[in-house]
Amino acid sequence: MIADKQPGFDTQLAYRSQQLFKEIVNDIDYNIEYTQKGSIYLIESEQEWEVAENYVKQQVADGFPMRMMDRKEIHDDEPHIADDIIGGVEIECDAACDPMAMAYGLALAAQKNGAEILTFHAVKDIKLDEKGAVKSVVTDQGEILTKAVVNCAGVWAPHVGKMVGIDIPILPRQGQILVAESTIPVGKRKIVEFGYMMAKFGSSDYKRNVSPEIEKYGIAMVFEPTSHNNFLIGSSRAMVGYDTRVSIEIMRGLAERAIRFFPIMKNINVIRAYAGLRPYCPDHFPIVSPVEEVPGFYIAAGHEGDGIGLGPVTGKLISQMITGEETELPVERMSFARFKKN
Ligand SMILES: Cc1cc2nc3c(=O)[nH]c(=O)nc-3n(C[C@H](O)[C@H](O)[C@H](O)COP(=O)(O)OP(=O)(O)OC[C@H]3O[C@@H](n4cnc5c(N)ncnc54)[C@H](O)[C@@H]3O)c2cc1C
Repeated sequence: MIADKQPGFDTQLAYRSQQLFKEIVNDIDYNIEYTQKGSIYLIESEQEWEVAENYVKQQVADGFPMRMMDRKEIHDDEPHIADDIIGGVEIECDAACDPMAMAYGLALAAQKNGAEILTFHAVKDIKLDEKGAVKSVVTDQGEILTKAVVNCAGVWAPHVGKMVGIDIPILPRQGQILVAESTIPVGKRKIVEFGYMMAKFGSSDYKRNVSPEIEKYGIAMVFEPTSHNNFLIGSSRAMVGYDTRVSIEIMRGLAERAIRFFPIMKNINVIRAYAGLRPYCPDHFPIVSPVEEVPGFYIAAGHEGDGIGLGPVTGKLISQMITGEETELPVERMSFARFKKN
Protein backbone atom coordinates (compact mmCIF):
# COMPACT_ATOMS: atom_id res chain seq x y z
CA MET A 1 0.00 0.00 0.00
CA ILE A 2 1.20 3.51 -0.71
CA ALA A 3 -1.00 5.05 1.98
CA ASP A 4 1.56 5.16 4.77
CA LYS A 5 4.53 6.23 2.69
CA GLN A 6 6.41 9.51 2.74
CA PRO A 7 6.05 11.54 -0.47
CA GLY A 8 8.93 10.99 -2.89
CA PHE A 9 11.03 7.83 -3.21
CA ASP A 10 9.15 5.94 -0.46
CA THR A 11 5.84 6.28 -2.35
CA GLN A 12 7.43 5.68 -5.75
CA LEU A 13 8.88 2.37 -4.54
CA ALA A 14 5.55 1.19 -3.10
CA TYR A 15 3.67 2.27 -6.23
CA ARG A 16 6.01 0.33 -8.50
CA SER A 17 5.50 -2.72 -6.30
CA GLN A 18 1.73 -2.35 -6.65
CA GLN A 19 2.07 -2.42 -10.43
CA LEU A 20 4.23 -5.54 -10.22
CA PHE A 21 1.62 -7.21 -7.99
CA LYS A 22 -0.87 -6.93 -10.86
CA GLU A 23 1.59 -8.58 -13.24
CA ILE A 24 2.21 -11.36 -10.72
CA VAL A 25 -1.52 -12.00 -10.28
CA ASN A 26 -1.80 -12.46 -14.05
CA ASP A 27 1.39 -14.50 -14.39
CA ILE A 28 1.11 -17.05 -11.62
CA ASP A 29 -1.44 -19.79 -11.74
CA TYR A 30 -2.48 -19.47 -8.09
CA ASN A 31 -5.17 -17.51 -6.22
CA ILE A 32 -3.47 -15.07 -3.83
CA GLU A 33 -6.81 -13.43 -2.91
CA TYR A 34 -5.69 -10.15 -4.45
CA THR A 35 -8.20 -7.29 -4.24
CA GLN A 36 -7.73 -3.65 -5.12
CA LYS A 37 -10.37 -1.80 -3.11
CA GLY A 38 -8.22 1.10 -1.98
CA SER A 39 -7.68 2.14 1.63
CA ILE A 40 -8.89 4.93 3.89
CA TYR A 41 -7.24 7.03 6.60
CA LEU A 42 -9.57 8.32 9.31
CA ILE A 43 -9.13 11.87 10.51
CA GLU A 44 -10.00 12.67 14.13
CA SER A 45 -9.13 16.36 14.53
CA GLU A 46 -8.68 19.65 12.68
CA GLN A 47 -4.93 19.37 13.23
CA GLU A 48 -4.88 15.99 11.49
CA TRP A 49 -7.06 17.38 8.68
CA GLU A 50 -4.54 20.12 8.00
CA VAL A 51 -1.59 17.71 7.84
CA ALA A 52 -3.62 15.28 5.72
CA GLU A 53 -4.59 17.98 3.23
CA ASN A 54 -0.96 18.98 2.69
CA TYR A 55 0.07 15.34 2.39
CA VAL A 56 -2.62 14.64 -0.22
CA LYS A 57 -1.75 17.80 -2.19
CA GLN A 58 1.86 16.73 -2.42
CA GLN A 59 1.03 13.14 -3.41
CA VAL A 60 -1.49 14.25 -6.04
CA ALA A 61 1.06 16.69 -7.49
CA ASP A 62 3.43 13.71 -7.81
CA GLY A 63 0.73 11.82 -9.72
CA PHE A 64 -0.59 9.42 -7.06
CA PRO A 65 -4.34 8.72 -6.75
CA MET A 66 -5.40 10.15 -3.37
CA ARG A 67 -8.18 12.48 -2.27
CA MET A 68 -9.79 13.97 0.82
CA MET A 69 -13.22 12.71 1.90
CA ASP A 70 -15.42 15.05 3.95
CA ARG A 71 -17.49 14.04 6.96
CA LYS A 72 -20.64 13.19 4.99
CA GLU A 73 -18.85 11.23 2.34
CA ILE A 74 -16.88 9.10 4.77
CA HIS A 75 -19.93 8.24 6.88
CA ASP A 76 -21.98 7.42 3.79
CA ASP A 77 -19.16 5.22 2.51
CA GLU A 78 -18.36 3.43 5.80
CA PRO A 79 -21.49 3.65 8.01
CA HIS A 80 -19.95 1.85 11.04
CA ILE A 81 -17.31 4.50 11.66
CA ALA A 82 -17.67 6.51 14.91
CA ASP A 83 -19.89 9.61 14.53
CA ASP A 84 -17.21 12.14 15.52
CA ILE A 85 -14.76 11.22 12.74
CA ILE A 86 -14.44 14.40 10.67
CA GLY A 87 -13.18 13.00 7.38
CA GLY A 88 -10.67 10.79 5.68
CA VAL A 89 -8.11 10.27 2.95
CA GLU A 90 -8.86 7.76 0.23
CA ILE A 91 -6.00 6.02 -1.54
CA GLU A 92 -7.65 4.44 -4.55
CA CYS A 93 -4.82 2.21 -5.71
CA ASP A 94 -4.14 0.32 -2.47
CA ALA A 95 -4.57 -3.43 -2.61
CA ALA A 96 -4.48 -6.50 -0.38
CA CYS A 97 -3.59 -10.18 -0.74
CA ASP A 98 -3.09 -13.29 1.36
CA PRO A 99 0.68 -13.18 2.00
CA MET A 100 0.99 -16.91 2.63
CA ALA A 101 -0.80 -17.73 -0.61
CA MET A 102 1.45 -15.19 -2.31
CA ALA A 103 4.63 -16.90 -1.02
CA TYR A 104 3.30 -20.29 -2.05
CA GLY A 105 2.13 -19.12 -5.46
CA LEU A 106 5.46 -17.45 -6.20
CA ALA A 107 7.36 -20.59 -5.15
CA LEU A 108 5.25 -22.75 -7.47
CA ALA A 109 5.75 -20.30 -10.34
CA ALA A 110 9.51 -20.23 -9.73
CA GLN A 111 9.60 -24.03 -9.80
CA LYS A 112 7.73 -24.06 -13.09
CA ASN A 113 10.44 -21.76 -14.44
CA GLY A 114 13.19 -24.16 -13.39
CA ALA A 115 14.02 -23.04 -9.83
CA GLU A 116 14.87 -25.74 -7.30
CA ILE A 117 13.39 -25.00 -3.87
CA LEU A 118 14.96 -26.64 -0.84
CA THR A 119 12.71 -26.40 2.21
CA PHE A 120 13.91 -27.09 5.77
CA HIS A 121 17.54 -26.45 4.91
CA ALA A 122 19.00 -24.25 7.66
CA VAL A 123 21.90 -22.09 6.45
CA LYS A 124 24.80 -22.64 8.83
CA ASP A 125 27.66 -20.89 7.07
CA ILE A 126 28.71 -19.09 3.89
CA LYS A 127 32.15 -19.83 2.49
CA LEU A 128 34.20 -17.24 0.63
CA ASP A 129 37.02 -17.80 -1.87
CA GLU A 130 40.58 -16.49 -1.55
CA LYS A 131 39.45 -13.10 -2.96
CA GLY A 132 36.68 -12.76 -0.38
CA ALA A 133 33.85 -13.48 -2.84
CA VAL A 134 30.94 -15.87 -2.18
CA LYS A 135 31.86 -19.49 -2.96
CA SER A 136 29.24 -21.70 -1.28
CA VAL A 137 26.42 -21.96 1.22
CA VAL A 138 26.71 -24.60 3.91
CA THR A 139 23.35 -25.97 5.11
CA ASP A 140 22.51 -28.61 7.69
CA GLN A 141 21.93 -30.91 4.72
CA GLY A 142 24.97 -30.23 2.60
CA GLU A 143 26.97 -27.59 0.76
CA ILE A 144 25.72 -25.67 -2.32
CA LEU A 145 28.27 -24.07 -4.66
CA THR A 146 27.19 -20.62 -5.83
CA LYS A 147 28.51 -17.24 -6.91
CA ALA A 148 25.53 -15.26 -5.55
CA VAL A 149 23.65 -15.32 -2.25
CA VAL A 150 20.69 -13.12 -1.30
CA ASN A 151 20.30 -12.66 2.43
CA CYS A 152 16.52 -12.30 2.75
CA ALA A 153 16.34 -13.70 6.26
CA GLY A 154 14.16 -10.89 7.69
CA VAL A 155 14.81 -10.34 11.39
CA TRP A 156 17.47 -13.06 11.23
CA ALA A 157 19.41 -11.25 8.47
CA PRO A 158 22.05 -10.04 10.99
CA HIS A 159 22.87 -13.69 11.89
CA VAL A 160 23.37 -14.56 8.23
CA GLY A 161 25.42 -11.37 7.80
CA LYS A 162 27.78 -12.53 10.56
CA MET A 163 28.58 -15.59 8.41
CA VAL A 164 30.40 -13.28 5.98
CA GLY A 165 31.73 -10.95 8.67
CA ILE A 166 29.37 -7.97 8.30
CA ASP A 167 27.11 -6.18 10.79
CA ILE A 168 23.57 -5.63 9.54
CA PRO A 169 21.67 -3.15 11.73
CA ILE A 170 18.26 -4.85 11.62
CA LEU A 171 16.28 -5.42 14.82
CA PRO A 172 13.03 -7.28 15.50
CA ARG A 173 10.10 -4.93 16.18
CA GLN A 174 7.15 -6.85 17.52
CA GLY A 175 3.57 -6.25 16.36
CA GLN A 176 0.42 -7.90 17.70
CA ILE A 177 -2.86 -8.52 15.85
CA LEU A 178 -6.39 -9.50 16.88
CA VAL A 179 -8.53 -11.68 14.62
CA ALA A 180 -12.31 -11.27 14.88
CA GLU A 181 -14.99 -13.90 14.32
CA SER A 182 -16.76 -14.10 10.99
CA THR A 183 -19.38 -11.38 11.22
CA ILE A 184 -21.36 -8.71 9.37
CA PRO A 185 -19.22 -6.49 7.11
CA VAL A 186 -17.86 -3.83 9.49
CA GLY A 187 -15.90 -2.00 6.80
CA LYS A 188 -15.32 -2.55 3.10
CA ARG A 189 -11.58 -2.12 2.89
CA LYS A 190 -8.40 -1.39 4.82
CA ILE A 191 -9.03 1.48 7.24
CA VAL A 192 -6.28 3.08 9.28
CA GLU A 193 -6.17 5.99 11.71
CA PHE A 194 -4.38 9.01 10.26
CA GLY A 195 -2.82 9.73 13.67
CA TYR A 196 -0.66 6.68 13.00
CA MET A 197 0.94 8.49 10.06
CA MET A 198 1.54 11.55 12.17
CA ALA A 199 3.23 9.38 14.78
CA LYS A 200 5.17 7.38 12.15
CA PHE A 201 6.55 10.45 10.42
CA GLY A 202 7.33 12.14 13.73
CA SER A 203 5.09 15.22 13.51
CA SER A 204 6.98 16.56 16.50
CA ASP A 205 4.31 18.56 18.32
CA TYR A 206 1.49 16.13 17.60
CA LYS A 207 0.09 13.98 20.41
CA ARG A 208 -2.96 11.77 19.92
CA ASN A 209 -5.63 11.89 22.58
CA VAL A 210 -5.03 8.30 23.75
CA SER A 211 -4.52 6.39 27.01
CA PRO A 212 -0.95 5.95 28.35
CA GLU A 213 -1.09 2.22 27.42
CA ILE A 214 -1.92 2.97 23.79
CA GLU A 215 0.99 5.43 23.68
CA LYS A 216 3.37 3.07 25.50
CA TYR A 217 2.75 0.13 23.14
CA GLY A 218 2.71 2.29 19.98
CA ILE A 219 -0.81 1.13 19.15
CA ALA A 220 -2.50 2.58 16.06
CA MET A 221 -5.72 1.21 14.64
CA VAL A 222 -5.44 -0.76 11.41
CA PHE A 223 -8.60 -2.56 10.28
CA GLU A 224 -8.36 -5.14 7.53
CA PRO A 225 -11.34 -7.21 6.36
CA THR A 226 -10.61 -10.73 5.08
CA SER A 227 -12.30 -12.54 2.23
CA HIS A 228 -13.99 -14.87 4.77
CA ASN A 229 -15.82 -12.03 6.59
CA ASN A 230 -13.46 -12.02 9.53
CA PHE A 231 -11.34 -8.97 10.12
CA LEU A 232 -7.92 -8.23 11.56
CA ILE A 233 -7.16 -5.45 14.01
CA GLY A 234 -3.61 -4.16 14.41
CA SER A 235 -1.24 -3.13 15.60
CA SER A 236 1.39 -2.44 18.22
CA ARG A 237 5.11 -1.66 18.02
CA ALA A 238 7.57 -2.85 20.65
CA MET A 239 11.26 -3.74 20.86
CA VAL A 240 11.15 -7.00 22.82
CA GLY A 241 13.84 -9.01 21.05
CA TYR A 242 12.63 -12.21 19.39
CA ASP A 243 9.65 -12.61 21.73
CA THR A 244 6.48 -13.54 19.81
CA ARG A 245 4.14 -13.96 22.76
CA VAL A 246 0.98 -11.86 22.88
CA SER A 247 0.10 -9.92 26.01
CA ILE A 248 -3.25 -9.08 27.58
CA GLU A 249 -2.30 -5.37 27.95
CA ILE A 250 -1.64 -5.00 24.23
CA MET A 251 -4.67 -7.07 23.22
CA ARG A 252 -6.80 -4.82 25.42
CA GLY A 253 -5.20 -1.70 23.93
CA LEU A 254 -5.83 -2.93 20.37
CA ALA A 255 -9.48 -3.58 21.18
CA GLU A 256 -9.87 -0.20 22.91
CA ARG A 257 -8.44 1.67 19.95
CA ALA A 258 -10.52 -0.30 17.43
CA ILE A 259 -13.77 0.35 19.34
CA ARG A 260 -12.93 4.06 19.39
CA PHE A 261 -13.15 4.09 15.58
CA PHE A 262 -15.77 1.32 15.18
CA PRO A 263 -18.11 1.31 18.22
CA ILE A 264 -19.97 -1.66 16.74
CA MET A 265 -16.96 -3.86 17.51
CA LYS A 266 -17.72 -3.99 21.22
CA ASN A 267 -20.31 -6.65 20.35
CA ILE A 268 -17.97 -8.74 18.20
CA ASN A 269 -15.79 -11.57 19.53
CA VAL A 270 -12.07 -11.97 19.01
CA ILE A 271 -11.15 -15.56 18.14
CA ARG A 272 -7.37 -15.34 17.99
CA ALA A 273 -4.39 -13.09 18.63
CA TYR A 274 -0.84 -13.39 17.37
CA ALA A 275 2.43 -11.53 17.32
CA GLY A 276 5.00 -11.18 14.54
CA LEU A 277 8.40 -9.56 14.20
CA ARG A 278 8.98 -6.74 11.74
CA PRO A 279 12.57 -6.44 10.47
CA TYR A 280 13.28 -2.88 11.57
CA CYS A 281 16.04 -0.71 10.09
CA PRO A 282 17.05 2.43 12.05
CA ASP A 283 16.12 4.81 9.19
CA HIS A 284 12.92 2.90 8.26
CA PHE A 285 14.20 2.01 4.78
CA PRO A 286 14.96 -1.58 3.79
CA ILE A 287 18.38 -2.74 2.68
CA VAL A 288 18.15 -3.86 -0.96
CA SER A 289 21.75 -3.90 -1.98
CA PRO A 290 24.94 -5.69 -2.94
CA VAL A 291 27.63 -5.73 -0.26
CA GLU A 292 30.76 -4.13 -1.68
CA GLU A 293 33.20 -5.87 0.64
CA VAL A 294 31.80 -9.37 -0.15
CA PRO A 295 31.32 -9.78 -3.93
CA GLY A 296 28.32 -12.00 -4.68
CA PHE A 297 26.57 -11.25 -1.37
CA TYR A 298 23.29 -9.29 -1.53
CA ILE A 299 20.88 -8.15 1.17
CA ALA A 300 17.09 -7.89 0.71
CA ALA A 301 15.83 -7.34 4.25
CA GLY A 302 14.75 -4.74 6.79
CA HIS A 303 11.34 -3.84 5.31
CA GLU A 304 9.77 -3.42 8.75
CA GLY A 305 5.97 -3.19 8.27
CA ASP A 306 6.11 -3.09 4.46
CA GLY A 307 7.75 -6.36 3.47
CA ILE A 308 4.68 -7.87 1.83
CA GLY A 309 3.82 -4.77 -0.17
CA LEU A 310 7.43 -4.16 -1.17
CA GLY A 311 8.15 -7.83 -1.96
CA PRO A 312 7.67 -7.63 -5.74
CA VAL A 313 9.78 -4.49 -6.27
CA THR A 314 12.48 -5.90 -3.97
CA GLY A 315 12.65 -9.09 -6.02
CA LYS A 316 12.79 -7.13 -9.26
CA LEU A 317 15.59 -4.83 -8.09
CA ILE A 318 17.68 -7.64 -6.59
CA SER A 319 17.38 -9.70 -9.79
CA GLN A 320 18.51 -6.66 -11.81
CA MET A 321 21.51 -6.21 -9.50
CA ILE A 322 22.54 -9.86 -9.80
CA THR A 323 22.26 -9.94 -13.59
CA GLY A 324 24.10 -6.62 -13.89
CA GLU A 325 21.20 -4.77 -15.52
CA GLU A 326 20.54 -1.16 -14.73
CA THR A 327 18.03 -1.04 -11.86
CA GLU A 328 14.69 0.48 -12.87
CA LEU A 329 14.63 2.73 -9.79
CA PRO A 330 17.52 4.49 -8.05
CA VAL A 331 18.71 2.25 -5.23
CA GLU A 332 21.17 4.44 -3.29
CA ARG A 333 18.58 5.14 -0.57
CA MET A 334 18.47 1.39 0.16
CA SER A 335 22.20 0.69 -0.04
CA PHE A 336 23.99 -1.26 2.67
CA ALA A 337 26.85 1.25 2.37
CA ARG A 338 24.66 3.96 3.99
CA PHE A 339 25.36 2.35 7.36
CA LYS A 340 29.14 2.48 6.98
CA LYS A 341 30.74 4.33 9.84
CA ASN A 342 32.95 7.21 8.64
C1 LIG B 1 1.80 -7.31 13.01
C2 LIG B 1 2.42 -7.15 11.66
C3 LIG B 1 1.68 -6.59 10.62
C4 LIG B 1 2.23 -6.42 9.37
N1 LIG B 1 1.47 -5.89 8.37
C5 LIG B 1 2.01 -5.72 7.14
C6 LIG B 1 1.24 -5.17 6.07
O1 LIG B 1 0.06 -4.86 6.21
N2 LIG B 1 1.84 -5.01 4.86
C7 LIG B 1 3.15 -5.34 4.66
O2 LIG B 1 3.64 -5.16 3.55
N3 LIG B 1 3.90 -5.87 5.64
C8 LIG B 1 3.37 -6.06 6.88
N4 LIG B 1 4.13 -6.57 7.89
C9 LIG B 1 5.57 -6.76 7.67
C10 LIG B 1 5.92 -8.02 6.93
O3 LIG B 1 5.31 -9.13 7.55
C11 LIG B 1 7.46 -8.16 6.92
O4 LIG B 1 8.06 -6.98 6.45
C12 LIG B 1 7.84 -9.31 6.00
O5 LIG B 1 7.24 -10.52 6.44
C13 LIG B 1 9.35 -9.49 5.97
O6 LIG B 1 9.59 -10.47 5.00
P1 LIG B 1 11.02 -11.11 4.80
O7 LIG B 1 10.88 -12.07 3.67
O8 LIG B 1 12.06 -10.05 4.75
O9 LIG B 1 11.29 -11.91 6.17
P2 LIG B 1 10.55 -13.22 6.71
O10 LIG B 1 9.17 -13.31 6.18
O11 LIG B 1 10.74 -13.22 8.20
O12 LIG B 1 11.37 -14.38 6.05
C14 LIG B 1 12.68 -14.68 6.47
C15 LIG B 1 12.88 -16.16 6.27
O13 LIG B 1 14.26 -16.47 6.45
C16 LIG B 1 14.32 -17.74 7.07
N5 LIG B 1 15.65 -17.88 7.70
C17 LIG B 1 16.20 -17.11 8.67
N6 LIG B 1 17.44 -17.57 8.99
C18 LIG B 1 17.66 -18.66 8.21
C19 LIG B 1 18.75 -19.58 8.08
N7 LIG B 1 19.87 -19.48 8.81
N8 LIG B 1 18.61 -20.59 7.18
C20 LIG B 1 17.49 -20.72 6.42
N9 LIG B 1 16.44 -19.87 6.48
C21 LIG B 1 16.53 -18.87 7.38
C22 LIG B 1 13.18 -17.70 8.07
O14 LIG B 1 12.83 -19.01 8.46
C23 LIG B 1 12.10 -17.02 7.27
O15 LIG B 1 11.32 -17.96 6.55
C24 LIG B 1 3.59 -6.78 9.15
C25 LIG B 1 4.33 -7.36 10.18
C26 LIG B 1 3.76 -7.54 11.43
C27 LIG B 1 4.58 -8.17 12.52
